[in-house]
Amino acid sequence: MSLSLVTGSYIIAGLLFILALAGLSKHETSMRGNTLGAIGMGVALLFVILGVVLGLTDNGGSAQVAAPPWAIGAIVLALIIGAIIGITKAQRVEMTGMPELIALFHSFVGLAAVLVGWTSYYHNVASGHFDALHSGELFVGIFIGAVTFTGSIVAYLKLSAKIKSAPLTLPGHNLLNLGAIVAFLVLTVCFVLYPAGSNGLILISAMTLLALLLGLHLVASIGGGDMPVVISMLNSYSGWAAAAAGFTLNNDLLIITGALVGSSGAYLSFIMCKAMNRSFISVIAGGFGSDGAVKGEEKDYGEHREISAVEVAELLRSASSVVITPGYGMAVAQAQSAVADLTSKLRAKGVEVRFGIHPVAGRLPGHMNVLLAEAKVPYDIVLEMEEINDDLADTEVVLVIGANDTVNPAAAEDPASPIAGMPVLEVWKAAQVIVFKRSMATGYAGVQNPLFFKENASMLFGDAKERVEDIIKEL
Ligand code: NDP
Repeated sequence: MSLSLVTGSYIIAGLLFILALAGLSKHETSMRGNTLGAIGMGVALLFVILGVVLGLTDNGGSAQVAAPPWAIGAIVLALIIGAIIGITKAQRVEMTGMPELIALFHSFVGLAAVLVGWTSYYHNVASGHFDALHSGELFVGIFIGAVTFTGSIVAYLKLSAKIKSAPLTLPGHNLLNLGAIVAFLVLTVCFVLYPAGSNGLILISAMTLLALLLGLHLVASIGGGDMPVVISMLNSYSGWAAAAAGFTLNNDLLIITGALVGSSGAYLSFIMCKAMNRSFISVIAGGFGSDGAVKGEEKDYGEHREISAVEVAELLRSASSVVITPGYGMAVAQAQSAVADLTSKLRAKGVEVRFGIHPVAGRLPGHMNVLLAEAKVPYDIVLEMEEINDDLADTEVVLVIGANDTVNPAAAEDPASPIAGMPVLEVWKAAQVIVFKRSMATGYAGVQNPLFFKENASMLFGDAKERVEDIIKEL
């Protein structure tokens, strides 16, 4: 096997990753995209390991040396441990736990970039050779990796509700973030100029600590409503961290893969910011421009009305148009199959049923689409928010199944609301709205929902799956 075979395999893996991204952009081709990505990763892993074992990696001109047996043993051990963790996690994870698992995986990428940077630094210390460009690369790589590491851990804790999703607002938090970036730039220049000896160690340690704190602060200062963008931003950061590690290790495939993840994550964040009417810069700067207060709970919106499953069934029997807007509660209740059954039943009776999907419904981009596809709901009746919003005023019944923030009229009507300006599904415009949830509790953003108190809205309390099944029985 030669070095050119390894390089050729990198090109094939890179192409497979690009095809995977293209496939993942549509429901119909997403399975194929996923398979191509997995094959690409298999090819990449195989040839990277073979390259290291046989000493065929391009070490930037340094001697090509086959790995000693202990190193091969360590690689095999790491592969086995990694595969066991990956397989068990993937088998056990609930669909509702995916976002926090993804956040945790991002933190591993960040940590790996930090470790690669520090190892490379010690390699340079041992050889006594410091190249200015390489010093800059490893310094930047550690910085991005450390921000990604702690930022992703805070995102994991917020998404798994282990800490509150409300934003942390330290006095002058924007200045703190700006100060950290300026300090990083100064430290980088100093490290490139004086990388050797105790000076270099102090500079790299100070920067690592600064980046770890910045990651914590950036994500802690972001409110619940902006978390979807933060997840895709962290996805992007993890890509750039991997690309930086690729530069440090002189590995072209890691640079290509990291850049693909980094740029597609940044583009997804941009699209989501646009969909949520948020400023891209303010979100990545850590809640810039928001005062962080969660308001709205204390307001008295009056009395809510309750409805039974039998009454809802009656209402649906006489309706000609129904729109279903699912949210995170549908995922928690695992109600998607029951919802799909209800849809078929109503369609068989000649009722027009469509779905309205908010871009940030659930806890990860496309969450609702995945669940509905799994329950075999036809794609052509699943519409995006902007496709359905104009039709809601002419709809007879809207079933809000476990959604809350994404149907909150305060976003459109109350400029003081923390989610003000975020486009929402305007379900209150329909003739009748039935809200399926277990209590009057707030949604992810911690904001009370005036929809529940509107004249045309009724609450159907209980687990969404059980209530939908009750309705099916009545039909
Ligand atoms: P929300 O999180 O706002 O609300 C979900 C509702 O579901 C809750 O009010 C809860 O009420 C109800 N619920 C929970 N379990 C059940 C159950 N078993 N049966 C019936 N109801 C249930 O959901 P949305 O989807 O409307 O909004 C998503 C939120 O998550 C947004 O704020 C978004 O910004 C945020 N987010 C989205 C991400 C994404 O990428 N999509 C990522 C991170 C955050 P109750 O407890 O009373 O039952």
